Amino acid sequence: MSTGSWENNVRKVVPYTPGEQPKEKVIKLNTNENPYPPSPKVKRILDEYNCDKMRLYPDPDATVLVDAIAERYNVKPSQVFVGVGSDDVISVAFLTFFNSEKPVLFPDITYSFYDVWADVYRIPFVQKPLTADFKIDPANYKCENGGIIFPNPNAPTGCEESLSMIEDIVKANPDSVVIIDEAYVDFGAESALSLIDKYENLLVIQTFSKSRSMAGMRIGYAIGSEKLIKYMNDVKFSINSYTMTPLTQLCGAEAIKDEEYFVNTVKKIVDTREYSKKKLAELGFEFTDSKSNFIFASHKSKPASEIFAALKEKKIFVRYWNKPRISNHLRITVGTPEEMDELFAALKEILK
Ligand code: PMP
Repeated sequence: MSTGSWENNVRKVVPYTPGEQPKEKVIKLNTNENPYPPSPKVKRILDEYNCDKMRLYPDPDATVLVDAIAERYNVKPSQVFVGVGSDDVISVAFLTFFNSEKPVLFPDITYSFYDVWADVYRIPFVQKPLTADFKIDPANYKCENGGIIFPNPNAPTGCEESLSMIEDIVKANPDSVVIIDEAYVDFGAESALSLIDKYENLLVIQTFSKSRSMAGMRIGYAIGSEKLIKYMNDVKFSINSYTMTPLTQLCGAEAIKDEEYFVNTVKKIVDTREYSKKKLAELGFEFTDSKSNFIFASHKSKPASEIFAALKEKKIFVRYWNKPRISNHLRITVGTPEEMDELFAALKEILK
């Protein structure tokens, strides 16, 4: 085989490692999926879909979906950007707004995709340490920067940050875009959406993957000032105009209109989360006061790595990272009450 120096010019990156998607049947509490199906209105769309329509390209503006999201959040359609899951939306936001020589700031313990996007787009970044109890110290975000992003509630800690603290950070940073990743906000934190009319540099990103049970459909969205959304669309339309399939657009629009189903599903998960906190405490676990659909827990005596491996043996998958500061923690997605009871029974055996 001939060899040349072409590899010197390859964009080399260390990719993000998604949670495992096992082929066999397991109790799957490792990727924060919703244990309940999407709204029955989504099923109706799928049942009635006419495949002939697939000949045509989709609406590049995803108008039905954008309009439905705008209506749900009482904003203008020109304030809504949609993408293929919030991963796609965050990626476009990194490319659009984090375009300076100054470092982008995010917590040291957070969604482990942020440093990967920064890396692939060659964006400098600095990770700011969370406090000992895994909270954001706003003082860390009052220095020169090329942008700020963090989730609320944070992942994988589940900790909520107050709206006043978020506003404090946004107010201190009029020269950069501040992104709040609200993937888990519906499970108990306060959204920063109420601030978008006040700060044109504040972008809020949410997803259909968690509270709306549609991780497999891949729908995420950003809401912010018309200016921010226009800049994101300019970048998106410079890469791929047709990101959302017609079916995705229709299913998403129906799902977001079904408020009653959404409220009920979220309540079931929050109730199971609070029940699970009691059970985990009885088993000797310590954890943050999660406001998300997962619990970030460590055991008083048994190392997390051992519990993780023992659970896997029993075909119960949770998430574990062998990383500084969190290597003795497990992130456990809140499943159905039945799944959680199976988890607790397994933990009881492992810990005895
Ligand atoms: N943000 C955070 C904090 C997440 O945990 C996830 C899920 N892995 C995402 C964004 C992306 O989710 P999705 O692309 O499914 O919307």
